[in-house]
Amino acid sequence: TEPLHIIGGGMAGSEAAWAAANLGVPVVLHEMRPRVGTFAHRTGDFAEMVCSNSFRSDDHERNAVGLIHWEMRQAGSLVMEMAHRHRLPAGGALAVDRDPFAKAVTERLKSHPLISTCYEEVTALPSSGHWIIATGPLTSPALAESIRAATGAEALAFFDAIAPIVYTDTIDMSVAWLQSRYDKGDTEDERRAYINCPMTRDQYEAFIDALLAAEKTEFHEGETAGYFDGCLPIEVMAERGRETLRHGPMKPVGLTNAHRPDVKPYAVVQLRRDNKLGTLHNMVGFQTKMKYGAQTAVFRMIPGLENASFARLGGIHRNTFINSPTLLDAQLRLKSRPYIRFAGQITGVEGYVESAAMGLLAGRMAAQEILGRELPPPPPETAMGALVTHITGGAEARTFQPMNVNFGLFPPIDARGGRRGRHDRYKAYTDRAKQAFTAWLSG
Ligand code: FAD
Repeated sequence: TEPLHIIGGGMAGSEAAWAAANLGVPVVLHEMRPRVGTFAHRTGDFAEMVCSNSFRSDDHERNAVGLIHWEMRQAGSLVMEMAHRHRLPAGGALAVDRDPFAKAVTERLKSHPLISTCYEEVTALPSSGHWIIATGPLTSPALAESIRAATGAEALAFFDAIAPIVYTDTIDMSVAWLQSRYDKGDTEDERRAYINCPMTRDQYEAFIDALLAAEKTEFHEGETAGYFDGCLPIEVMAERGRETLRHGPMKPVGLTNAHRPDVKPYAVVQLRRDNKLGTLHNMVGFQTKMKYGAQTAVFRMIPGLENASFARLGGIHRNTFINSPTLLDAQLRLKSRPYIRFAGQITGVEGYVESAAMGLLAGRMAAQEILGRELPPPPPETAMGALVTHITGGAEARTFQPMNVNFGLFPPIDARGGRRGRHDRYKAYTDRAKQAFTAWLSG
């Protein structure tokens, strides 16, 4: 059997290696550490957790991250098995003792008869064979350059600048209204493509005060804050002058409040559709380094967002990732070089769990392909399926930014606002997902 080469022994690469080897395919795992380091990793172990020691919620009944844990366990995940073994008390979260965890993953991989390791930096895209690139948010500069040369400068980002994403059904449409600036667009849909939240002068001034006072996170050491003018955090814009936002992302021109056409808004926050399903909207131009708690408090001051639920909050990080919606097919293969798959954070998912899950999937898909079969992606009703569907086609390519798993990515249940409470609805999502995932695994 031909070998599968995996570049990067992080969350995704470790899962991919384990999944493929367990299907009987020999694996060569290429890892540059400890020879070549990154600013965030400290050890030479596989699956090192670079920051928090948590895999987030383990609630598989009412939480999308917990659900993906469940699916990974069903599929024989190494990361989940070792996380469970080295678990620390943390309420409903799956927190682990990070060093023993990473050592255990490393030992398991190294003792697998079908896995060999190669401690070297891969500096260019391979030209033949079967490959998975799982080099993560801190992909080495030489390899990143080679990916950039193959995919185009536009298709590879070195920073994420994430604007908060809101669940559409938590926006108060008795305050907000649908309209594109200057009613631009050829179709009725396009002329109503944005959700607009109006502010009076007093509301705007209070918002700016809150923004300036909010707690911010600092860049990690070694993570240069070289953000470009196109994606300045909103609080930095506010620091440059109280009116800056009103002349930037919050400018009120070309918009008429459908509920109060007689009152000209002093400022407007716009939200743009973030997925094909229409269940998510992002706050246009609202990338921020505010701490998560502060973000929720500050953004709920925006009229129409008083009760908003956030599918993800904003952030700006050093993060190498490709424009998966344009570059990858549903099998996570690079369309222009289908012998190369991508997995993990570099595909535009965000987080240890999501990265590991995409590794598991890529490993299985690649192994099946080597064995002469094709593994269809999990259905979109499952957590893994929702995530892979999002990055390979569901997300808007033009504004693609990394994504956590969340229920907004799933085909909606009760989209028209049934009577079920949010919690029952989540349970309905996870019940449906488990059934679909079990069928997919056995199919
Ligand atoms: P990684 O786990 O980073 O693995 C990639 C591997 O590829 C690394 O081992 C690297 O050494 C290797 N590599 C890179 N280039 C090459 C090359 N050319 N040749 C050979 N090997 C190479 N997520 C969370 O859920 N919680 C957090 O608290 C969190 N904190 C983060 C903090 C920082 C500073 C960063 C950068 C990211 C953080 N993330 C966090 C996001 C992300 O989930 C993790 O980075 C996760 O480890 C990504 O998994 P991965 O497998 O895609 O990449």
